Parts: sequence; C-alpha cells; structure tokens
Amino acid sequence: MNSLTADDRSQVTREATVEYWKHITPIVQIAFAIHVLLLGLFLIVELPMMWMTNALSVMAYIACLLAIKHRLYRCAGMLICIEIIAHAAIATWVLGWDSNFHFYVFCIVPIIAFGFHSSPVRRRCLSAAVLIVTVGGYLLRNRVPLASISEQAQDVFGAVNALTAAALLLHATALSVRFNLSMHMNLYHSAHRDSLTNLYTRRRVLQRLRQLGGGRRELPTAMVLIDIDHFKQINDQYGHDTGDVVLQQVAEVIASCVRTTDIAARWGGEEFLVLMPNTPFDDARVIAERILTHLREQAGLTRQVSVTLTATLAVAILKDGETFRDALNRADQRLYEGKQEGRNRVMLAQ
Ligand code: GH3
Ligand code: MG
Ligand code: MG
Repeated sequence: MNSLTADDRSQVTREATVEYWKHITPIVQIAFAIHVLLLGLFLIVELPMMWMTNALSVMAYIACLLAIKHRLYRCAGMLICIEIIAHAAIATWVLGWDSNFHFYVFCIVPIIAFGFHSSPVRRRCLSAAVLIVTVGGYLLRNRVPLASISEQAQDVFGAVNALTAAALLLHATALSVRFNLSMHMNLYHSAHRDSLTNLYTRRRVLQRLRQLGGGRRELPTAMVLIDIDHFKQINDQYGHDTGDVVLQQVAEVIASCVRTTDIAARWGGEEFLVLMPNTPFDDARVIAERILTHLREQAGLTRQVSVTLTATLAVAILKDGETFRDALNRADQRLYEGKQEGRNRVMLAQ
C-alpha cells in the first residue's frame, strides 16, 4: 500500500529531480562543448545560417547550465528540448535530410520522459515536435531546397552526426539507468537500515525470515534479543544526545560480534535483535555471551562519557512448526525474567 501524502510525494519528486539532473548534467556539458566546436566548423565551411543557429545554441546551453546551477530544472529541460528540436529542424532544412541532424532529437527522449512526467501538456507537445521533425523531415526530404553543401560534405556530416547522436543517446540511457539504480539503492538503504545506528531494521529481519522460508532446514535459525540495562538512567544523567551516541556504540559492538550471514538489527528503542540463520542453539549462546562481554567492556566508553554499560540477552531458536512471533515471545519472556533476576546476563529460552 502506498500511503504517501501529497507533501511526501512532492518531496520525493524534488529529491529525484535533483538526483536525475546530477546524473544528466555531464550530457549537457558534452552538448555544450560540441556546439562550441561546431561554431568553428561552420565558420570554416562558410555556412552563415548554421553558424548563427549554432551561436544561439551555445547561448541556450549557457542559459541551461545556469538554470541547472540554480536548480531551475524545468527551465533547463525546456531549453535543451527546444534547442535540440529547433537546431535539428533548421540543420535538416539547410543541410538536407542525409546530414542526419534529425538523429539528435532522440537524445532528448529521456529528458522529456523524466523532466515533464508531471506536465502532460508539455510532454505531449515536445513528443509531437520530435515526431514532426523525424517523420515530417523524412517525408519532405526531397522537397526541401537543395542542400547548400557538397555530397561529400553531406556524407561527412551524416556519419559524424549519426555517430555522435547514437553515442550521446547510449550514454544518456546508461546514465538514466544508473540514476534509477542509485535511487533504488538509496531507497533500499533507508528502508532496511536504521538511521541512528546503521544496523538493519525490523523490516529487513522480517524479509530475511521470509527468504529463509518455512521449509525444514538441517540447521535451525537462532535469535538473540538484547536489551540495554537501565538505559533510561543514561539518558537522564547525560542527556538524550549522549544516549544516542551510546546506542551507536552499542550497535557497533553488536555488529562486530556477529557473522556476515547474521542480521543484526535495531528492534526498537534500546532493544536489538540478531537473527542467525543455520545456527545451532549452542553456537548462538556463545555469540550472545561474546556480545555481552564486549558490550560491558566497550559500549559505555565514548568520547562523551565513560559509563558502565550492561545488557540482558535472551537466546532462542525457531523450533519446527513454531512461528517467529512465538519464538520471539519466548525470548522476550526470558529476557523479562533476566531483568527480574538482576540483569547483566544471558538467558536461554530453550
Ligand atoms: P531496563 O533495564 O528495565 O531495560 O531499563 P531501561 O531504562 O533500559 O528501560 P526502559 O524501557 O524503562 O527505558 C528505555 C529507554 O530508552 C527510554 C527511552 O527514552 C530510551 N530510548 C529509546 N530510544 C532511544 C533513542 O533512540 N535514543 C535515546 N537516547 N534513548 C532512547
Ligand atoms: Mg532497557
Ligand atoms: Mg527496552
């Protein structure tokens, strides 16, 4: 279920837009450089009309880069699209269809799709312009005035333009895919890592349990539940911010005691859970004892404070036919008993 509010959505869109343009800006810089080079070329081959068009394009790219710098992304997108469409149309008219200038309009397809996804009218107009230049240009290819350059020059333009436009499109698509993946990675990280401790979240534990499935396994899945003793007192005595630092230290200690195949998670507040696939009960108990020893020795020593920190732990394994919730309740019950018995110990929930 997607329960994002309108505010959340616009925040997500804003962040995605910034990220997208970060990825796509190198393409704009390359396009700018190409147009500066073409300025010289058109001067050499004496094509004043193309030189003027190109000079306007260079100005459009400068404006576009400034717009990106000031985060006016819609404006930047519109400038690029208009520049490329107009430039392709004029160049095709002056230098002929075979000069392949129309190929460049395909480079703006990702920008139209992303930049104007929430403005259907602009998106449709730009898409129509792309179609008009390509289909219209093709149909009119024999009716436009004769190209003002030789056939050989047209061949050179045709080859260079086809090569440059295809390379740009391939690069732009690769950047769009990279952008997509990096957004997914960020999203995955936010959903599965706790923002304070960087340990896994409850969601990741439940996901891992689903991956492990209900099937019978040779080795059981074990869990260790960890609750810091008298943590409230640390907050009361040193302040909540210092409490946060201690929690980060606790997380570091727990993460350093478990294996890479284990899922060390912040279960809530000052409570942690380590899920250990393929781990017999005795091995899990040994790891729990190691965690407690290291917590006692290291977790209370931060730059801000030096406190004696202890924790109560409970070890359980998922028995055949037992749900995770049942095993967790057993561990929780034993942890509660450990607190009653004086804390600072490892309880076994066999
Ligand atoms: P016990 O030994 O019985 O577990 O005592 P306790 O004080 O650790 O347990 P209690 O549940 O009474 O208090 C937990 C405290 O943990 C209270 C809460 O403010 C604190 N806490 C929970 N989450 C955070 C957090 O993210 N940062 C900080 N600094 N404190 C937190
Ligand atoms: Mg506690
Ligand atoms: Mg607690």
